[in-house]
Amino acid sequence: MRDPTGFLAEEYQQLVASATDWKLRVLEGPSAPWCEIDGHRVLMFCSNNYLGLSNHPRLKEAAVAAVKTHGVGSGSVRPIAGNMDLHMELERRLAKFKRAEASLVYQSGFATNSGLIPQLVGEGDLVISDELNHGSIIDGVRLSRAERAVYRHGDPVDLERVLATAEEHRPSYRRILIITDGVFSMDGDIAPLDRIAELGHQHGAMVYVDDAHGEGVLGEGGRGIVSHFGLSRDRVQVEMGTFSKAFGVVGGHISGSKELVDFAYNRSRTWLLSGSHPPPVAAACLAAIDVLETEGEHVRRLWDLTRRFKSAMRGFGFDIGKSETPITPVIVGESRRAKELSEHLFGQGLFALPIVYPMVAKDKARIRTIMNAALTDDDLQFAIGAFERAGRALHLI
Ligand SMILES: *Cc1c(COP(=O)(O)O)cnc(C)c1O
Repeated sequence: MRDPTGFLAEEYQQLVASATDWKLRVLEGPSAPWCEIDGHRVLMFCSNNYLGLSNHPRLKEAAVAAVKTHGVGSGSVRPIAGNMDLHMELERRLAKFKRAEASLVYQSGFATNSGLIPQLVGEGDLVISDELNHGSIIDGVRLSRAERAVYRHGDPVDLERVLATAEEHRPSYRRILIITDGVFSMDGDIAPLDRIAELGHQHGAMVYVDDAHGEGVLGEGGRGIVSHFGLSRDRVQVEMGTFSKAFGVVGGHISGSKELVDFAYNRSRTWLLSGSHPPPVAAACLAAIDVLETEGEHVRRLWDLTRRFKSAMRGFGFDIGKSETPITPVIVGESRRAKELSEHLFGQGLFALPIVYPMVAKDKARIRTIMNAALTDDDLQFAIGAFERAGRALHLI
């Protein structure tokens, strides 16, 4: 008999042969600026922990205290017996922070997109998506059975063309949803959400923004992309985000109208059918909001370091693309070159992973750096020096 699982090893071997398998690095301790990875002490330069909150004393204390008062698990899904006061408080505080009528917290950003998008649109509807949207949006759209259209990355003129085409078929669509990442994680560019929101309004379409990389970074005090553009909530009906990036913990969320939240928690299968956050997670997320509201220095520091890093890298002649945020790609071309650069940097004590085909185009392989507010000035100089030495050694600059 043929082994029915033979494809597992076969496919894995193909990945290894084409050097596209993931070789996991092991972090031995917290995600702090200086950390231990595979036994080496290195400066972390590619985590999503923009503000250093994943190891912030106030978050850690809140998590420990919640374990003592509430235990380590919630005991159930939220609609049955796992809805704790901590979950409710977190949603109240998040809505206040976002200046929205209401917020809802999911287990993760992935669970938010895959659970909510298929409820907002279905058969007979149209989803219009930026061509570079995150995989969790793509999966959410796939689950929806709505028709899909894609517009050119970050291009409102092309979005308008797609909307005009849809208009011709309007009577056949019940609803139209425009969906975009807020900050694109490969290039660090910002979606033109002001123009997108205006077009949505003109064409009677809903607008949904996934601001995973904009929260804690953009807008007043890190409130995110809706605040960055000063948009009103009736133009961006769904502001989605995650606690797993700048907030330093884990968990997805949406903010918008009370009607949106009432609808979303009654409908999203990922919310209804999956256990709620352990108490320390909810408590640490609450503390993260506290820190953002009371310690404005982290977001300011993040931008100060970002500007200094970008300016030094441009000065050396590195190609850092069109980033407008603390995500700075260092584009080197072929995958092999990006891997060499990453290894050279690691050898010097700087940890920044390469991003290669198929995640980006074949000739656009890169090191993706993400700035961290917890770096000292010396750390920044160390990172800049490491890039300069590696760039010269590999003849990139
Ligand atoms: C990271 C990310 C997600 C997933 O968020 P998790 O909370 O980590 O599941 C969704 N969308 C975008 C754009 C992301 O960058």
